[in-house]
Amino acid sequence: MSLPSIYELVPPEIERLSAGKFQWLSFPERLEERFEQDVAPARLARLWIEGLVAIALFNLFLFANLCLLHTVALHDVLVRSGLITPVALGVNFSMRTWPGRVYREASIALAACWICLIHLYLETGPYAMGPAYAQVGVIVAVLFTNMVMRLQFPYALAASITMMAGDLTFLYFDKLQGTTEKVFGATLTLCAVAMTVMANYSLGREERLAYLLRLREEIQSAKLSVSNEELQRISSMDSLTGLANRHAFDNQYMKMWKRALTSRAPLSAVLIDIDNFKSVNDLCGHLYGDRVLQRIALLLEQALRGKEDFAARFGGEEFVVLLPNTSPEIAMMVAERIRKLVEVAGAPALDEVPQLPTLWATVSCGVSTCWPTHTDLPDDLIGAADKALYEAKGSGRNRVCFGETVPERIAIRA
Ligand code: GH3
Ligand code: MG
Ligand code: MG
Repeated sequence: MSLPSIYELVPPEIERLSAGKFQWLSFPERLEERFEQDVAPARLARLWIEGLVAIALFNLFLFANLCLLHTVALHDVLVRSGLITPVALGVNFSMRTWPGRVYREASIALAACWICLIHLYLETGPYAMGPAYAQVGVIVAVLFTNMVMRLQFPYALAASITMMAGDLTFLYFDKLQGTTEKVFGATLTLCAVAMTVMANYSLGREERLAYLLRLREEIQSAKLSVSNEELQRISSMDSLTGLANRHAFDNQYMKMWKRALTSRAPLSAVLIDIDNFKSVNDLCGHLYGDRVLQRIALLLEQALRGKEDFAARFGGEEFVVLLPNTSPEIAMMVAERIRKLVEVAGAPALDEVPQLPTLWATVSCGVSTCWPTHTDLPDDLIGAADKALYEAKGSGRNRVCFGETVPERIAIRA
């Protein structure tokens, strides 16, 4: 059984994450990979900047403490900045090396725990304010981990539990506070941990939900543009022969006309009409007639060599070919090639009625060429090719005739 595509996973995941109760935040494997790939660059950039700001603030705080509070020992400040700043800077700089998800989240979680535990350790001295600073430090550390860095939920939870355990250990060994103060301190930290862990979970859930909704929008607009393209393709195609239809021809003709006008290049047109097609239909049936049309459409495409040559079904049993940058001589040659190909291979085999005499299919072609100017009308070229087609019909069919465009209006420089 084939795995569902990422896009199939999106709607059920939206539904799951929108449900009220607690949900695991991670997506199914492939969607999780795509999520990571899409959000990692912005996340790394944010962690880098916010980490730098936090390190700068921390060192500023140490410096201010040293200058303002004479009770703070220089040794304490040096130990803090010596043990914390290099580790924090190291982890922060590693965000510029595009680390993977586990390293990114785990290194920040470990660094935050390291900073918190060092802080607790240094507050174990015999200072009266030590326990209070220790508690505040732990609260700042969990706030930083869960709300500022917004580590992914499992990492934020693990880091918070570690810090809470550090705080409880600190309180256990603390000799300055009585049991009541210790319980009060522990409850305070526990509240801070619980609230920030909950907030971290909500933020993570919202981020993922917003990502899924964006992805769903992308999928919908991609689907829409595919169906628009498909609609466009269908609306410009003749369903029987697969050639461009009359509407597409009109558009293409105007484009080619304008291009010829600006580039002062010749534009040739060949009108092709199947000879005695009514008799083909009458004799062999309309379905066979359709097969003849399909066969001739195929031969038309095979007869065209120019990259920009364009063939369309003009209507009924008539086709048209546009040949940009093509002189009358070459246009006549192409028309003759078409006529010959149809003569040789235009009639598909008719297995159903083998007793019928040898089948035939021929075409007559009218060719014309012009070098458009601003005073000319696009209809003049097709009109001239149509006249030439009548001439080919009148002079016995299965032939190619050339028609001059109206000389007073269109200057033919053949
Ligand atoms: P001519 O050599 O003068 O062009 O004679 P003709 O019989 O080809 O011309 P006429 O205009 O009398 O008949 C055209 C026929 O083409 C009539 C029509 O039924 C047939 N036709 C037009 N479109 C289709 C089509 O899509 N399928 C089929 N099978 N026949 C079609
Ligand atoms: Mg006709
Ligand atoms: Mg005909």
